[in-house]
Amino acid sequence: MKDETITRFTGGPRTIYSFTDTFVVECPHCRHRAEVTKNSASGQYEFHCSTCHRGLAQRGLYKVSVNRYCPDCGYRVEVTLPAVKQKTSFVLLKCPACRLSNRFTPIYEDYVPPQVQDGETEPYFGSKLWLQDSFGAAILWAYTYEHLQHLKEYIQAKLRQRQTTTFSPMVERLPPFIKSAKNRKALLASIEKLTLKK
Ligand SMILES: [Zn+2]
Ligand SMILES: [Zn+2]
Repeated sequence: MKDETITRFTGGPRTIYSFTDTFVVECPHCRHRAEVTKNSASGQYEFHCSTCHRGLAQRGLYKVSVNRYCPDCGYRVEVTLPAVKQKTSFVLLKCPACRLSNRFTPIYEDYVPPQVQDGETEPYFGSKLWLQDSFGAAILWAYTYEHLQHLKEYIQAKLRQRQTTTFSPMVERLPPFIKSAKNRKALLASIEKLTLKK
């Protein structure tokens, strides 16, 4: 007998990448809800906080340092420069001892912004995802409200058919705690809490 009341997952096959144009995040300055969005013209990601209006430096920056001897007086010039976007073969610096300017070969390291210790982050600025809740030892998280809704539909559905054979949709890569039917009620309560989070 066919049971028409069975909830079928109709969210459609989507990869996790289809949810990565926007990330709802927690502003690290004021702790309010903020956004990281892809600028469709430049392809670059931008951080916006409509509460405190402060920005964040994007990853992909370099930390520049110089640790060389001055060719004029032999003084050891040790300088760390603020994060820069581009590598150059030399930097022009004035020796603090003899005051003469010389070209110094710098050392470049990847600039690592301050890290969030707990929870899930987005990959561009390292800011904490707004939509996350601990679930035992695991974390239920979503990049956006649309992503959260997609998860909700999947968790609600009692019938989960394989939707495509050409690629692996996001829902099939979900961790076991999300797929487990016994967690359904608790997961839906957690999603409801995240939807209302202010
Ligand atoms: Zn803020
Ligand atoms: Zn010098």
